[in-house]
Amino acid sequence: KDFKILTFSLLLITISAKAQKTTIEFKVDSVLNLMTLQEKVGQLNQLNAGDVTGPSDEKNRNILEEIRSGKLGSLLNVRGAKITNELQQEAMKSRLKIPLIFGQDVIHGYRVIFPIPLAEAASWDLDEIKLSARVSAREASSSGINWTFAPMVDIARDPRWGRVMEGAGEDPYLGSAIARARVQGFQGTGLGDLNAVMACAKHFAAYGAAIAGRDYNAVDMSKRQLWEVYLPPFKAALDAGAATFMNSFNSLNGTPATGNSYLQRDILKGAWGFKGFVVSDWDSIKEMVAHGYAKDLKEAAQMAIAAGNDMDMESKAYDNNLANLVKEGKVNIDQVNEAVKRILTKKFELGLFDNPYRFSDEKREKLELNSSANKASSREVAKKSIVLLKNETGILPLSKSTKTIALIGPLVKANQDMRGFWALSWGKDDIPVSLYEGVKNKLGNSTNILYSKGCNTNDSIKRDFTEAIATAMKADVVVMAIGETFDMSGEAKSKADIHIPGMQEELVKAIVKTGKPLVVLVMGGRPLVFNYTATNVKSILFTWFLGSQAGDAMADVLFGDYNPAGKLPITFPKSLGQIPIYYAQTNTGRPFEEGKSPNYRSVYLDISNSPQYAFGHGLSYTTFKYSNLKLDKAEIALNDTIKVSVEITNSGKYSGEEVVQLYIKDKVAQPVRPILELKDFQKIKLKPGETKKLIFYIEKEKLSFYNDDLKWITQPGDFEVMIGSSSDDIRLKSDFVLKE
Ligand code: BGC
Repeated sequence: KDFKILTFSLLLITISAKAQKTTIEFKVDSVLNLMTLQEKVGQLNQLNAGDVTGPSDEKNRNILEEIRSGKLGSLLNVRGAKITNELQQEAMKSRLKIPLIFGQDVIHGYRVIFPIPLAEAASWDLDEIKLSARVSAREASSSGINWTFAPMVDIARDPRWGRVMEGAGEDPYLGSAIARARVQGFQGTGLGDLNAVMACAKHFAAYGAAIAGRDYNAVDMSKRQLWEVYLPPFKAALDAGAATFMNSFNSLNGTPATGNSYLQRDILKGAWGFKGFVVSDWDSIKEMVAHGYAKDLKEAAQMAIAAGNDMDMESKAYDNNLANLVKEGKVNIDQVNEAVKRILTKKFELGLFDNPYRFSDEKREKLELNSSANKASSREVAKKSIVLLKNETGILPLSKSTKTIALIGPLVKANQDMRGFWALSWGKDDIPVSLYEGVKNKLGNSTNILYSKGCNTNDSIKRDFTEAIATAMKADVVVMAIGETFDMSGEAKSKADIHIPGMQEELVKAIVKTGKPLVVLVMGGRPLVFNYTATNVKSILFTWFLGSQAGDAMADVLFGDYNPAGKLPITFPKSLGQIPIYYAQTNTGRPFEEGKSPNYRSVYLDISNSPQYAFGHGLSYTTFKYSNLKLDKAEIALNDTIKVSVEITNSGKYSGEEVVQLYIKDKVAQPVRPILELKDFQKIKLKPGETKKLIFYIEKEKLSFYNDDLKWITQPGDFEVMIGSSSDDIRLKSDFVLKE
């Protein structure tokens, strides 16, 4: 009986979901039928209104006029319940009263800033990552934002690229999992959820593979590589319901992504069946002229709409040309109608036609923004993002009863830097917690806290370190904070040299010489090269840019209130010449083998092949023992699943979390497969002495790949499954055979 009721209610739910769908389709069509060509083009037009202060603001007459005459579909960079509501009221004065969408780069927090996305990725904690997006969406939606230009799901394997900070690192499996979590976090239970903002998977596609890591640069890659490495996180975002996509600045194999119909029409809207809309990147339609792809803005507009770019961010290419292009017969009105429908559909799904102001009101905004609950969430995610790179003599965690502690280095008191790139500025009121303040908050007055800056982050000549050395000499333990400032990574922040800048490692050298117990915290938005520190300092934490609560989170980890569990989502090179470097390489005919002569092998003469820190690396204050790897069968048929079990024991003295990683190698394949590929992971928490048995499943999907014809295939043969604590710390292995 229960079963019958269940089936019946499921049926009802399906019918009502379908009914809602058809109602929206019906409504969209009826609005479209009322629209003039000019009004249609208006819906595709998005402008920056960063400096608009309100309808009474004289200098913004143009924008207001455009809103009232229905020439704008969306605005970006206006925020605040008051102003967005006022501007929406202007839209309600337009002939058809079509509401505006307010878009904003809510990348890692809105008012309360969370760790930069690459840092969050280091948590490998999908719940926390989702929470970060959820809190950001709640804040932003209270403030009138309906749409965030996030998540950036670009795979990045070149740390010179400044935007590695904005993504989830180098791996398609981890990147896909994180893409899903972020979309779910932003969109909540769906666009009808008043706490939701539309997500935007960007930058479609392959933006992260810019040649030589130079931002905006061309991308040249095989389609197999594109499908296998760069597209999966986009597909994952789409499957999680991402409402919108943004294309990208780069060209891909000679065609700018914005004018690329293979990407937008064939793949996204075709093969993948994407129902949302595609926005250009800032001016990227116009940039097709500079690319040398379109002869002028008009031709660029024609190419963009033909290729499936729905909304024009900022370049006015559509605004100025689309109506004429239609009249001249160069653009088919169906293409315009399709784009308008996609945008109107999202406006209906957001509920904007029923309530153009959604959940934005000043009262709610006041309660939501910067609330202590939101700050607590940020601290939680921040702790989980920290990676313990090294702890050789186990200085960490530090004792809270240390008598005198010296904090040395140019980033000890850095506060605004803790925000990282892509954090909105809110004036003087919101100052993140620096390391210095975090340590003070933790230890109170019981410990004597000394400070010396030592040098700036990017001094070009060696400073006098006498004061820093003297400060260290007075202390029982020294904690140093070095690295990059926030503006050294981010958009247009590519670097050819990613060593820790300036004289900072010289400062480390001087402090190492004092012989004092030393912990170094490295901060930055990308993998950095720091050979001296990596070799000579015994305890190192990588702390990225952790957002509003950075200092408190770092102090939690330094003094053992939280046991670090982060794992690198991207390889840290040992030398600049190794770049690009990533773990999932393919073998060569002459692989390097430990203990054998490197002669005529695929190695460098002057440096080793191994990175400084591998993908997946990250230690804990405790230790974990891996044992009893078991496969339920040694041979499987194509459609079978293998059950893998493994036992993990906390063999140290602290409670802690471990990210247990499962890698696979397809030993013989055409085309060849990487030497290892992440295919699953689980993050677990164990008390000292506790053992947990984990189960993983390996099904066909995890053994499949693209061949040269872009067919998703599975080849029978020998496979290896590897379970480890990092891509270079595989603890257990076992073989199995996939039968014909
Ligand atoms: C960036 C996008 C961003 C847009 C709007 C562009 O420069 O590439 O990622 O969403 O600006 O701010």
